[in-house]
Amino acid sequence: MDKFAVERLQEIVDGAQRLVFFGGAGVSTESGIPDFRSPDGLYHQKYKFPPEYMLSHECFMDRTEAFFEFYRDKIISYDAKPNAAHYFLARLEAAGRLSAVVTQNIDGLHTDAGSKRVYELHGSVRRNYCMQCGKYHSLEDVKSMAGIPRCECGGIVKPDVVLYGEGLDENVVTGAVNAIASADAMIIAGTSLVVYPAAGLVRYFRGKSLVTVNLDKDPAISRGIHIQAKIGELLSEIEIK
Ligand code: ZN
Repeated sequence: MDKFAVERLQEIVDGAQRLVFFGGAGVSTESGIPDFRSPDGLYHQKYKFPPEYMLSHECFMDRTEAFFEFYRDKIISYDAKPNAAHYFLARLEAAGRLSAVVTQNIDGLHTDAGSKRVYELHGSVRRNYCMQCGKYHSLEDVKSMAGIPRCECGGIVKPDVVLYGEGLDENVVTGAVNAIASADAMIIAGTSLVVYPAAGLVRYFRGKSLVTVNLDKDPAISRGIHIQAKIGELLSEIEIK
């Protein structure tokens, strides 16, 4: 780990009162959740369509059974636990220094770690609702049902996850924008930042210290400082004073 980078980040965390953390898929890989967009070798033997289609609104509507097969196989992580990054952020919030976590991940691990204000831009596998009567179903409910999950009323239980071809929840986006716009420091981790909505949201940041952390050698944006590291390993080096 680059000692100089750790020191810089420590100074930024020490000085922050309203830090916002923006995280992508890279935050969850240390919890053993693979990025579903990088199909493994066996993928093509099993699925005819690319992952973007399998996780699309179109697939959900037209090939519901195939959707749920993919969803159970590739998206739900049955035994993933929060890692050092998730726990650090929950502690920083409890210390009154972090105002929000904004995440593109749908695994619910920030909430598991104890974070309270989490804007899940793409929803969460933890919440599932019947399309007919609106009843809430837990992830455990969905896990226990084979094939297409169905409510007692007969309706299909749809995960509260933003599928390709669906719009983001406006309230969640507004909350994230407000948190970012009033933040004094921001850490963007585990995302290349070139993908929507990360690139758009970072424009709202007007604070002093911007840090990007990912495995890329070079930063995707010219602002702030860039640290090439795994976010969990990096935050393990940071103290909350
Ligand atoms: Zn129902």
